[in-house]
Amino acid sequence: MLAAFSFEREGDASVGLEPGLAQHAGNASTGFAAPASSTPTLPPAGAASTCSPPAVVERRGDLDHAPHETPHDADPWRLTEKLQADQALSEDEWTTLIEGRTPNLADRLFAQARAARDEVYGRTVYLRGLVEITSCCKNDCLYCGIRKSNRQAQRYRMGLDEILACCEQGYAQGLRTFVLQGGEDPWFTQDKIVAMVRSIREERPDCAVTLSLGEWPHDAYAAFRAAGADRFLLRHETADDDHYAALHPASMSPKRRKACLFDLQRLGYQVGSGFMVGSPGQTARHLARDLAFLKKLNPHMIGIGPFVPHRHTAFRDEPAGSADLTLFLIGCLRLMLPRTLIPATTALNSVDAQGRMRGLAAGANVLMPNLTPPQYRDSYDLYDGKAASGLEGVENVARLKRQLEEAGYQVPSARGDSAVETERA
Ligand code: SF4
Repeated sequence: MLAAFSFEREGDASVGLEPGLAQHAGNASTGFAAPASSTPTLPPAGAASTCSPPAVVERRGDLDHAPHETPHDADPWRLTEKLQADQALSEDEWTTLIEGRTPNLADRLFAQARAARDEVYGRTVYLRGLVEITSCCKNDCLYCGIRKSNRQAQRYRMGLDEILACCEQGYAQGLRTFVLQGGEDPWFTQDKIVAMVRSIREERPDCAVTLSLGEWPHDAYAAFRAAGADRFLLRHETADDDHYAALHPASMSPKRRKACLFDLQRLGYQVGSGFMVGSPGQTARHLARDLAFLKKLNPHMIGIGPFVPHRHTAFRDEPAGSADLTLFLIGCLRLMLPRTLIPATTALNSVDAQGRMRGLAAGANVLMPNLTPPQYRDSYDLYDGKAASGLEGVENVARLKRQLEEAGYQVPSARGDSAVETERA
């Protein structure tokens, strides 16, 4: 049964937006807190990695003769061993490891990360269907292509029937998790989101419903949860307060963002967080703080992706984040939190044509095909060059599965709940 209302793709789409914004553009692009891009102010490329798919396990003797090795704990090679043994590093150690990374070190890290992932999840890759329900947002994050002050952004909102049709299409392709993502759009009130969640749960009781709809008061999160939402994705973007202030307007608070994440956990959600790699002004120390924060949060899922500039933002001339650094951090995250689900994100695939498979080879185990109707996809324009077609699209899920299976992965039709949940039970 459908909810008691239907979100028409109505013409009042400008609620919460600055005047003059077009509504319902004919396209859509990615969702909300995700624009991820990265590549900072970090020591660039010499440090990147070439991720070769399967096992590149080096023998201990090889490591002993590694060219960058030095005989103390500040040695990046020894730090990866410490990370594997302790599943934690100090901020100083993270900084040393990130700054000291090399292609050889990255290859060894990826082999360790794959082994850690396979021990928990085997060679299973979980698919989630992404529905980008609105490109309207009341916020003004400086890096985001659909920020409210971008008057050239194409705005749209999906009606409930359209959203349910996306889920139906995804279900037919074997997807059993639907991720409803969008800007913080006041038109999507608490009641509308509750009705949307209820409708999906009623039609697809064997599926998980994930929301990625930004910051809400406790009561709203509780209402979504009571309606049947299983998971909530909310990237912290950067754990450093000053860096957060450089990327967001003063109206947005890093403390509130973090408080939301812990609130979601208390409400029993499976929580996802993450950050951009290479966002303007980012340093290795900032990334170290991101990793330390995630260790403390211990989320069910972590999504990271390179910062990618958008032509209509103040960061238009900033360099995009590095795919290699993003991959290296995926490997670090896998070793730090082996039970966490880690997607190879659209942003990663947008800056590296092999990003999807390289992400899996670095320790990721989730992909998110895009269920958003084609007429909206280009309007969900979080960053330039966002991959929204080809194997990113639901229309090619069968091809995507074949590619994964040929690479030795299993792709079940399953909700794919996080092993972190089991650990907490
Ligand atoms: S402007 Fe809106 S959609 Fe863009 S990142 Fe910020 S909260 Fe998310």
